[in-house]
Amino acid sequence: MSASARASIIDGKAFAEGLRGRIGEEVARLREEHGLTPGLAAVLVGENPASEIYVRNKGRATEAAGMASFSHHLAAEATEAELLALVERLDRDPAVHGILVQLPLPAHIDPVRVTEAVDPAKDVDGFHLVNVGRLATGAPGGLVPCTPQGCLMLLKHALGSLEGKRALVLGRSNIVGKPMAALLLAENCTVTVAHSRTRELAAECARAEILVAAAGRARMVKGDWIKPGAAVIDVGINRVEAADGRTRLVGDVDFDEAAKVAGHITPVPGGVGPMTIACLLRNTVIAACRQAGLPDPGI
Ligand code: NAP
Repeated sequence: MSASARASIIDGKAFAEGLRGRIGEEVARLREEHGLTPGLAAVLVGENPASEIYVRNKGRATEAAGMASFSHHLAAEATEAELLALVERLDRDPAVHGILVQLPLPAHIDPVRVTEAVDPAKDVDGFHLVNVGRLATGAPGGLVPCTPQGCLMLLKHALGSLEGKRALVLGRSNIVGKPMAALLLAENCTVTVAHSRTRELAAECARAEILVAAAGRARMVKGDWIKPGAAVIDVGINRVEAADGRTRLVGDVDFDEAAKVAGHITPVPGGVGPMTIACLLRNTVIAACRQAGLPDPGI
């Protein structure tokens, strides 16, 4: 970061490490006091190298927190019926409290049918329509998608109360943009959702005291799109080629420009990314407590 930068950096890596530590302590308490070991099952179909890395990392993080990790890898040719049968078996398995089916799935499998087959109580990705509906209506007992939940935790850590703040979410996907907007609304923000058809996008962004960028476009948010002092959460993960020919990860925000204007900003990498897995573990512990009839843990 340049010498003139003034934004305070929101260290998602450090926050996620702290959260994972608290989750580990809660898991140890559940085992000791209730004989309960939260279990997460990950299902992977086919040979997508990025998905294999994600699933491996999730498995390691699950074990590091003291939870049980179950991994199921089906061949790329597996039928939808085979995958549905596996999901239904996991739905019934009492050692499994959370189920995640790694997306994307091969083209011959309908992701909606698979997501809907997961028991909503075990849907730790928060993608089942029952959980989407609970988030949208404010009904209790739902599980919230991990990436927006992680963004919200970082925002509250940086700002405290978000009440009354003008927030803009750039992107309207079902996994990030829409649940993020619902979470901010539930915190009593005034929320705008921007997307590819939004007119005067830079001016819309420049009004926001909270800007969450989730468009998947490398460095599209420039310094002059940002309201001075705003909190900027950069969800984007984009691979770009650097001057030396190697690839590096950048966000949807032009960090060097934005850090000179914003009040708080997440870096990429080391911002939102580490929060996603930590929130997946948190959802698994919450799901395990509910399935055991225990109160939600305070993590
Ligand atoms: P997505 O499904 O591709 O959605 C992108 C959204 O951005 C869409 O709503 C799209 O608008 C909008 N958009 C695209 N280009 C735009 C433009 N030029 N101007 C205005 N809006 C534009 O992406 P996603 O799954 O939400 O992911 C977004 C980014 O977050 C990606 O970089 C992804 O890799 C990253 N991500 C990170 C994590 C993490 O753990 N850190 C997790 C999930 C995703 P339309 O709806 O009009 O097409």
